[in-house]
Amino acid sequence: MRKVYLDYSATTPVKDEVLQEMIPYFTQNFGNPSSLYTLGLEAKAALDKAREQVAGLINADAKEVFFTGCGSEADNWALTGVANALKDKGNHIITTKIEHHAMLHTCEFLEKNGYEVTYLDVEADGTVRPETLEAAITDKTILISVMFVNNEVGTIEPIKELAAIAKKHKILFHTDAVQALANVPIDVKDLGIDLMSMSAHKIYGPKGVGAMFMRKGLRLPSFIHGGAQEMGRRAGTENLAGIVGFGKAAEMARENLENHIKHCSELRNYLVERVTSEIPDTFVNGSMEHRHPGNANITFKYIEGESILLLLDYKGISVSTGSACSSKSLKPSHVLEALGVPVEMIHGTVRFTVGDFTTKEDIDYVVDSLKEVVEKLRQLSPVNEEKGW
Ligand SMILES: *Cc1c(COP(=O)(O)O)cnc(C)c1O
Repeated sequence: MRKVYLDYSATTPVKDEVLQEMIPYFTQNFGNPSSLYTLGLEAKAALDKAREQVAGLINADAKEVFFTGCGSEADNWALTGVANALKDKGNHIITTKIEHHAMLHTCEFLEKNGYEVTYLDVEADGTVRPETLEAAITDKTILISVMFVNNEVGTIEPIKELAAIAKKHKILFHTDAVQALANVPIDVKDLGIDLMSMSAHKIYGPKGVGAMFMRKGLRLPSFIHGGAQEMGRRAGTENLAGIVGFGKAAEMARENLENHIKHCSELRNYLVERVTSEIPDTFVNGSMEHRHPGNANITFKYIEGESILLLLDYKGISVSTGSACSSKSLKPSHVLEALGVPVEMIHGTVRFTVGDFTTKEDIDYVVDSLKEVVEKLRQLSPVNEEKGW
């Protein structure tokens, strides 16, 4: 049976070049980067190289990149770190209603500990309006955090404008760029970002490695306490092979960015075009103009996204409903709710995300399968009878 993976926003396969680069660091070059003999120094050099590679993808200095255990850790670190460091200055944090749970659940934790969080509304296409942000700022605001690209609907936020507002009010600006990294050009200096979360497994690197960009001059308290690794800001013996893989994936992403964007957006547009013209009662959620190149978030009216997911899975196709983290619960997606999509339509929504290994034949197979699956489900749908289809 054909296998088609259309869930690149949940995770990506590790590219072969990345894996090859990693392997020696498990076996021969396995030294502890903190050790002072040659084996350790070589490990340290590999770590430094990876730091340069990740910094190169976002136009940062290597000294501004700190490796973490995952993207979620970077989000947790940014929020709790700023909250702790600036608690004498204020207790107000501004974020949005459409953040990843790594952000939202950390905000809830902070709320239980005396902080106040404003969750900004978004437009119907998922965009945060600069005026909405400006209006939420108080003299107690210590951090503004707006995700760069939304993981469910793919909307790209106006980060440069939002960061400029933060700067004008002398407030720190953090962005969760896990979905943006390697999918949109990022220049942290030009954008005016203070803190930024990244993850390797969304850019063809391994799972279990993330990074934080922390602008020079900032010093957040450690999130993991212990040894002096990561310039004293993140303890724990480094995930050497994983970090080497992240570095290689970042270097490849930088070299391939234009091609990647072109390849993904062409296939995504082809998917959207075929689905919306060949399957009735479908619509796309999120911004058409400012969108992740691989993301298609599509609502199929009158049926359940979970049923579509399962029937596609029987045909070897992997897609998701909402985000991977919420797909086990039947709670409607908080992102689609914030966009104002009616609850019954949210339940009929599927996220397709294409990537570097997706082909046009894959898309044709998926659309042909979808047509069959959607028709079958609509015939069974009780809403169908009411509508007299
Ligand atoms: C995947 C993802 C995360 C979490 O990254 P992990 O490395 O899986 O912890 C955070 N934010 C966004 C937007 C994501 O898509």
